[in-house]
Amino acid sequence: IEVIRGVEPRVADAIGQELEDQRDSLKLIASENYASPAVLLAMGNWFSDKYAEGTVGRRFYAGCRNVDTVEALAAEHAREVFGAQHAYAQPHSGIDANLVAFWAVLAARVEAPALERAGARQVNDLSEEDWARLRHELGDQRMLGMSLDAGGHLTHGFRPNISGKMFDQRSYGTDPATGLLDYEALRKTAREFRPLVIVAGYSAYPRLVNFRIMREIADEVGATLMVDMAHFAGLVAGKVLTGDFDPVPHAQIVTTTTHKSLRGPRGGMVLCDSSLAEQVDRGCPMVLGGPLPHVMAAKAVALAEARRPDFHSYAQRIVDNSRALAEGLLRRGATLVTGGTDNHLVLIDVESSYGLTGRQAEAALLDSGVVTNRNSIPQDPNGAWYTSGIRIGTPALTTRGLGTGEMDEIAGLIDRVLTATTAGVTSAGKPSKAQHVLDAKVSDEIAQRATDL
Ligand code: PLP
Repeated sequence: IEVIRGVEPRVADAIGQELEDQRDSLKLIASENYASPAVLLAMGNWFSDKYAEGTVGRRFYAGCRNVDTVEALAAEHAREVFGAQHAYAQPHSGIDANLVAFWAVLAARVEAPALERAGARQVNDLSEEDWARLRHELGDQRMLGMSLDAGGHLTHGFRPNISGKMFDQRSYGTDPATGLLDYEALRKTAREFRPLVIVAGYSAYPRLVNFRIMREIADEVGATLMVDMAHFAGLVAGKVLTGDFDPVPHAQIVTTTTHKSLRGPRGGMVLCDSSLAEQVDRGCPMVLGGPLPHVMAAKAVALAEARRPDFHSYAQRIVDNSRALAEGLLRRGATLVTGGTDNHLVLIDVESSYGLTGRQAEAALLDSGVVTNRNSIPQDPNGAWYTSGIRIGTPALTTRGLGTGEMDEIAGLIDRVLTATTAGVTSAGKPSKAQHVLDAKVSDEIAQRATDL
């Protein structure tokens, strides 16, 4: 920090303040964690200066032997941890990993047959006419993904994201009565819509997904099954999600982030069947800039950590803690989407439980040292900005060593804050979906307990 302070003290201060904030508050953001010192140090070094476009052993730059070592290790550990045939460690983020996967599927299922028909080896060999036809065909493909309000991610085909502009998209959702994934409705939509790709995976669904059934549906309609396991990769690595609930044996292609429950550096990764390996490895420079060798070094370290037996117990404790948090909230009268959890996250319906919008609840909890995020719930009456949900997750606090007893206490702290919070009014005196009112005595008391924990 002192070295940084000598150059730009405000950055040094912000870094120091971030450490203090993370120590003083309860980090319940479901997508965050605490990476180990080994992971952080693997990221902060001279690898950051290297250019290494290409793949291991086939670079467009000289001097990449050490980058080759770390990229090969990251891929090897990933294949071992997840039992995958092929791993690609270059994506800079989860969104980038999804882009690589989409284009790999498009290349395999649309581009390759077009090249074959035209008797061409690569796109540069196509006539202008064949090229125009192929571009039209690439832009004419369909994707079926989980709806945002049921817990899907923006990159699963939504218009504000490039995926929604690339694909003609339709969504599947959850059963309004139970909040659970409705596989029969999904099957029906898939039969009618005939997508090229079915995307499974979520950011805010508190239950397990049966990937065997998802693959069965994909096969029935000739779709490729892609699973985005960004949120729950740590539970797969830790062998808590196995059999029908492990995406790797069922999907042709699986993407992930490395920084959420997997507890690595910020970044992404793609795992796939050998049949898609060649297309996946073209991620850079097709949709990615040059790889980040320092981050790949940190991915290799994090995946080596995930291969240790203690990672299994870490993953199991994430789920035990999540269940304890859910049970603590239910006992205190809160309404949870789907009535509970089977994974690392819990979605509280704060509108039904406390008469608050997600935005009001998020702000009141932050005042009290409890860091969460507002989130849409299925058929959300408050829309995607204010929302009616609060998403909480246990990967970070589990890394800090907190257990089920503390989770029950934290459920009590959350309930106390939200019970003591009321909706505020705008400056014109009208009811506000953004403002909240919370007695400073309550927020100070809870914030102190959050710091102690
Ligand atoms: N996929 C899912 C399911 C996610 O939840 C997220 C992030 O929240 C992403 C992809 C995007 O990851 P990143 O922020 O690393 O691009």
